[in-house]
Order: sequence, then structure tokens, then C-alpha cells
Amino acid sequence: HKYVYDFAEGNKDLKDLLGGKGANLAEMTNLGLPVPPGFTITTEACKAYLATGQEPDGLAGQIAARLEALEREMGRRLGDPDDPLLVSVRSGAKFSMPGMMETVLNVGLNDRSVVGLSAQAGGNDRFAWDSYRRLIQMFGKTVCDVPGEEFEHALDEAKRAKGTTDDLGLDADDLRGLVDAYKKIFAKHTGREFPQEPREQLDLAIRAVFESWNAERAVVYRRQERIPADLGTAVNVVAMVFGNLGPDSGTGVAFTRDPSSGAQGIYGDYLANAQGEDVVAGIRNTVPLQELERIDKTSYDELLSYMARLEEHYKDLCDIEFTIERGKLWMLQTRVGKRTAAAAFVIAGQLVDEGLIDLDEALHRVNGAQLAQLMFPRFRLDHEFEPVAKGVGASPGAASGKAVFSSDRAVELAGQGESVILVRRETNPDDLNGMIAAKGILTSRGGKTSHAAVVARGMGKTCVSGADELDVNVPQRRFTVAGRTVNEGDVISVDGTTGKVYLGEVPVMPSEVVQYFEGTLDPERTDDPLVRAVHRIMTHADQRRRLAVRTNADTAEDAARARRFGAGGIGLCRTEHMFLGDRRELVERLILARTDDEREAALGALLPLQRADFVEIFRAMDGLPVTVRLIDPPLHEFLPPLEQLAVDVAVAQERGEDVAKEEALLAAVRRMHEENPMLGLRGVRLGLVIPGLFAMQVRAITEAAVAVVREGGSACPEIMVPLVGAVQELETVRTEAEKIIAEVVGDSGVEVLIGTMIEVPRAALTAGQIAEAAEFFSFGTNDLTQMGWGFSRDDVEAAFFWRYLELGIFGISPFESIDTEGVGRLVRIAAEEGRAARPGLKLGVCGEHGGDPDSVHFFHSVGLDYVSCSPFRVPVARLEAGRAAV
Ligand code: PEP
Ligand code: MG
Repeated sequence: HKYVYDFAEGNKDLKDLLGGKGANLAEMTNLGLPVPPGFTITTEACKAYLATGQEPDGLAGQIAARLEALEREMGRRLGDPDDPLLVSVRSGAKFSMPGMMETVLNVGLNDRSVVGLSAQAGGNDRFAWDSYRRLIQMFGKTVCDVPGEEFEHALDEAKRAKGTTDDLGLDADDLRGLVDAYKKIFAKHTGREFPQEPREQLDLAIRAVFESWNAERAVVYRRQERIPADLGTAVNVVAMVFGNLGPDSGTGVAFTRDPSSGAQGIYGDYLANAQGEDVVAGIRNTVPLQELERIDKTSYDELLSYMARLEEHYKDLCDIEFTIERGKLWMLQTRVGKRTAAAAFVIAGQLVDEGLIDLDEALHRVNGAQLAQLMFPRFRLDHEFEPVAKGVGASPGAASGKAVFSSDRAVELAGQGESVILVRRETNPDDLNGMIAAKGILTSRGGKTSHAAVVARGMGKTCVSGADELDVNVPQRRFTVAGRTVNEGDVISVDGTTGKVYLGEVPVMPSEVVQYFEGTLDPERTDDPLVRAVHRIMTHADQRRRLAVRTNADTAEDAARARRFGAGGIGLCRTEHMFLGDRRELVERLILARTDDEREAALGALLPLQRADFVEIFRAMDGLPVTVRLIDPPLHEFLPPLEQLAVDVAVAQERGEDVAKEEALLAAVRRMHEENPMLGLRGVRLGLVIPGLFAMQVRAITEAAVAVVREGGSACPEIMVPLVGAVQELETVRTEAEKIIAEVVGDSGVEVLIGTMIEVPRAALTAGQIAEAAEFFSFGTNDLTQMGWGFSRDDVEAAFFWRYLELGIFGISPFESIDTEGVGRLVRIAAEEGRAARPGLKLGVCGEHGGDPDSVHFFHSVGLDYVSCSPFRVPVARLEAGRAAV
């Protein structure tokens, strides 16, 4: 079994075996770039070690052989007292897991080789002892679990004794003393001396990297990111090169294009006389990479030529870590670089222009989540506005409002029509009402999976979490930041995309990308590279996609917007809002009706109102299919709440007023009270219990369609029955509806389809029968998820999903992205059995998942005909449907 690969033996496609870092080091080596020599121990070795707790047979020998070859190549032996070879030991899994695993530098240093290192460095004792103390610190912490603070305290102590605040203020003697202190700390915690034998150091470091794969934080991270737990990590052993050997040395990072805008050019940072860790730790200020041209032109030119090579080779933005050791450039790492949403589109467009990739590949280089980000409203920022803090962009968007520090206050002020931002250290389920009332949420603790972040994302509400520069004082209702105090009522602005926090009200504007979708920004005329790239990629996605994209809209205005955004019809027109407002009273009359006549009168009053609503919607969607769903929610949602009504009636009785009508209403509300209304009298059940209700809706829809056709338009209504669980329910509704449709349609030529939602698990499992009575199915994945998991969709996200996400039980809420294995399986079964029973059965989805990128790919793979989502998600669904098809 081959467990160890020289860099020259690998390539970039061996990420499974060599991890991302190892595969890319191999690729650069084979391109002839100056990579410090080294080798990679495979993920197979890691897996074998983790399975048995022992290095697999043969590994030690293979490492010895590779090490010997490395020593020959470098002309130095590991830890040689006179002229030591030193190595770094770095983890590198297939998927990058930032900050999750371990690195140990300077392996091979000990009490004797530290002297040889000084000689190698031209008698630089300070450098040698500093390198040694770094080894003991990193090795102690990552290999032997010595608490890191102990080393940091000792370092602070040494600086204080010397009267300096800077590491550079310590000289060789100070550092020698620090090494002694570190060794004592090491011995105290491990019960042994710091290992002096170089090969033992190496073996222990390799073992620690293997074991770091199962560290708790790595396990949780993988669960959340859905990275399989059994991949293991590779280990890279690389000859050390030093950027801290003097002014002709240094270290830096470089990007082949601007990772924030995508613009072409030279981007990066350089730090002279430093090691990579110093850049990360921000110990000294870096200079822009261009400065390197002045400092060391030869290395700079060489670096630029490698950057061009790498970009051409990877056909993408690359990011690079490099070190210069006394004027000699070394490439330490490269990978396809992370980038902002805007840069992703711009770069994909540029690469097409440069002939490096085609448009299909460009589709793979962007995604719907990035597009969604580009569609959030933005702050209109000019020089007046400087952020005062930066946290995690936990839920995107831009919001301004008065700072409030409690949920109650948020509700109170929002009730008075004020915009508020709820500021907390962290939120908990008690803050829910405040979160709903607020325009935005700001916390000083917690990251992307904190309660605030998860709940805000679920609500689509702007949230910045973990802005730890904020000192939040809830009892005093204020926070301080950067020396300024913000009291309750002061206006602040938060940007949930960038995580930035501003004082005062920053004006908001629609993004350029939304202006483009709205049709107010012409992609052919603008010189905005982002809009041009988005236009080009969207056009290609539309050509490629097989899924149609419809919208969920129940007003003509939403329908018209969705159409501008590219919707090919309405997949879900909910009719409930048509029963609210002024019409509530008619609904009350319907519910209170004691005789058929009274009920019919109430329905008769609703009919023209409904018809007018549908006429407007059919006009807005002229020529495109419109799926109208018959009324779904339980009737009590249209009535006053029980407690309120009971109090009102009691007070009125007390005053001796005539309350006959209110008493009847109260009795009806009591009669209709349900413990679990979402599992109660709603949807088709309601239609079967209240005579004439569905019939009135069917008539309104059909009459509206006929009216639009008679005025010269074209209407394609599809009537959808909600919450069906058994074919008999649908048949009953269908028989009645067909009679009305035949009567209303007459010779108008209007065609009306009748279909059903599949949103009760039983419907999915009996889809073959249901298809006999349905011309189309639309998967209501909100209810299907609710009933499939038994999770109340209105309660559980705020109640405990944050905990499930923290534990990694979910990577994402199943209400946000379809649970392909469970709920998705129901969809698959219903699609297959439905189509088997009725070839040509039209299949769509209208739950929230219709606009979720991963879910769109799943629906494509199941073979649905369309997805339907809210107007703002339509472009996202178009893009993802295109990506799913290439
Ligand atoms: C669904 O359940 O997925 C659906 C679209 O219907 P509603 O959200 O209105 O229950
Ligand atoms: Mg539903």
C-alpha cells in the first residue's frame, strides 16, 4: 500500500487521496514552480490510523524513505546539530475546513540544532531561538494539548520584564530564557520533557494531525457542512523556508484577480521579514503587494509570471501564499480562491471573454445563493458613513431603525409605526416577538449558527451577529462601541450582507442587479461589468434549463413583478388574502349563517369581489398558466381571537348593550376552536364541510377567465385543491367543479384544468390513485415537511432548530432546503406513481423550496416540470434550473 507521495507524484485531481493542499502543491511542483520540496501522507493512512489507533504497517518505513530523499535533495538532515533540515507538518483535507485542524512549524529543532540553525542564518541567534520557542509553543498546544494561554502568558511576561510590547523587542537572550520557560510549561502539563529526537517530533506531529480529524469542533463543522465523516485528512511534510531572516525576506498572499470585485490586476499583501503566522495574527501592518516591486523586483516579476501561469492552468481565480527567503521566491500554497458574489459573476464573464471557459462552465462558476445576495437592497454609502463595528453577516439585507434592547420595547415601538433594530448580546426564544417586530437584529455574540442568525434567516430578516466590539448593556438600554454610546431610540443601520454596523440612518436603494431584472437598467447600454455578466449568464441559463419557473403570487402587482423577473406563470395563487380586510365581515356572515339562504347570500356577496381579483391576475399573466388554489387555512383565522371576543362580549353585556350578534360569533368561534388547527378543518376538508364555498371560488375563477378572454386576452386557469389525502376527497370536489365550469365556459374556448396539491404524506403514498382525478400535481413541500417530520412549521424553527443546527443534526433547516432523503423520497414516489397512472401528468412544486438552490437541483433530478417561488426568488430558480441542466 502506498501511503506517501512525493509532491512530484501527485496532481490536482487527487484531492480525495492527497487533500486539497497536497494535490495543489503537487500540481505546482509539476508545473515547475518553486515549491519547497516535501511529501504528502495520504488520507488512506489517516483512515487506517483512525480505525485502529495505530499507524498502518509500512507507513513508518515509507516516511523514512521519503524523508531520506528529502534530506538528500536539501543537502541537510532533519535536526542535524550543525546544519539542520526543518519541516512543517500541515493538515489538508479534501474540503477546506478553515481553522479546524492543525499545523506545526519548525519540526527538527532541539537544544543542539538551534545552534546549527543560527549558523545557517548567518549567526542570527535571535532568529534561531525565536524559531525554537515557536516550535515548543505550537507543538505543545496542538500535539500535546498544553493550554495555549500558558505560553502566551509567559511571552507577555518576558515582554513586560523587558519593557516592550512588541515581539521584536525581545533579543536572543530573552528568547533563550523564554524557551526554558516554555519547556517547563511543557513538562508540567505532559509529565515529560520536550522531545529532543527530531523523528519523534515528526511522528507525534503527524499523529496529531490524524487525530485532529476527530476533534469535536471538526466533527460539528463537518456535520453542518455535510462533509462526510470518513474522508480523513492528508498530512503534508514540507521543507521549511523562512520569511523572517531579514529585510530581504518576507511573506505574502496574492490573488490573480480582485476577489471582491473581480477586476483584473494584482491584489494581495506583503509583509517583509515575517512568517505567515504573523500576517494572520496581524502583528504588523502589511503593505499592498505592488510595493514588492520596489522592495524586490526580481521576486515580484517572478511571482507575477507564476500567477499568470496558475490562472491559465486552473482557468480560474487563484489565491497564493508565498515566502521570500533571502531573495529567493517560494510558492507555499495555491487554490482556486474564494470570492464575493459579485466577483464570481464578473470573473466567470471575463473567463468566457478570454476563451478560457465556455458558457456552460460559467454557469458552474456561479450559484443562486450568490445571485440572491446581489438582489438584496443595499445601503447607498458615501464618505459620510463609516462603519463603527463589523460582525458576521448572518442574514442579508440592509436595515435602519431605532436601537431597542428588549423584545417588548421592539413590539411597542413597531406598533407605533417606528422602524427598530433589536440589539442584544445574544437572542433566545423569548426574543421572538421582538425579532418579528424589528427591521433588523444586531447581536454582539454568536456566529452564523447562533439563535439570532438562524431565526433571522428563517424569517428573511436582516441580521448581524457576533459584532463583538459592541459592549451591550441591556439593563441600561445602551451599547458602546469605538468610544461612542448608542442609547435606546438612537438610529443605527445594519448590513446583514457585509456584517457592518453604522450609526445614523444610511439610505437604502435597490441593487443594480434588481434594477436590471426590473428592466430599468439596460444590460447592453450599461458599463457596469456585473450587470453585463449577470445578463449573459442568465440568458444562457434560460436556454439550458429544462425546468420551467413560475411564481407564487396572489396580487396582480406581485404577478407583474414576477413576470418581469422571468416567471413563466403562477404556480400558486393563494386565495386567503382575498377573504381579509373589508371582506372579513362577509366571511363572518358566511360562518354565522343559520340557513341556506343566509349562507348563499354571503357567498353571493363574495363572488364578484373574488372574480375581480382573478380578472386582474389573469390580465397580468396574460397567456401564461395561473394555478389558483382554493381556500386553505382554517376559518378561525378569519375571525377575532377567542379571548379578545369573550372579553368584548362580557364588557358589552356589563354595559347592557345588545350583544346578540357578538354572542353568536363567540359561540361560533368556540365551536370552531381546535387544539391543532394545522391538522384540523382546513383545505379540502373545509370545502367539503361548508357547502357552496369551493363552488363559489370555482365560479369566480372561471367567470374571470371567460371575461378576460372576451376582452381579447388569454387566460389559462388551473384550479388546485389543497390538503388532499385521499382520491375520494378530490373526486367529490371535482364532480361539483366540472359542472360549474361546463356551465360558465360555454363557447368561450376557455380551458380549465383541475389538479391537487400533494402536501399530506398519504397523498404522496397514494399518488397513483389520486392522479386518476388530477390533471396536475403541485407539491406543497411546506406542509409535506411539516407533516413528514411532524414539525409545526410555525413554531419549531424558533423553538429548537438553532440547537439542531449547533449539534449538526441538520446542516440547514428542512423548511429551507428539501430533506431529499425523507420528504424528497415522498416527492419522488408520488412523481413516479402519478406519472405511471397518468402519462403527461403535469408536476410542479410550490412550497418555499421552489426557490432554494439545492432543492431546485433535486426537483430537476426527480423530473418535475416546474418550480414555483416568490417573485424575488424567480431569478435564483432560473439560474439554478440552468445549472442543474448542464
Ligand atoms: C405548502 O404547503 O407547501 C404550500 C405551498 O401551501 P401553504 O404554504 O400555503 O400551506
Ligand atoms: Mg400547504
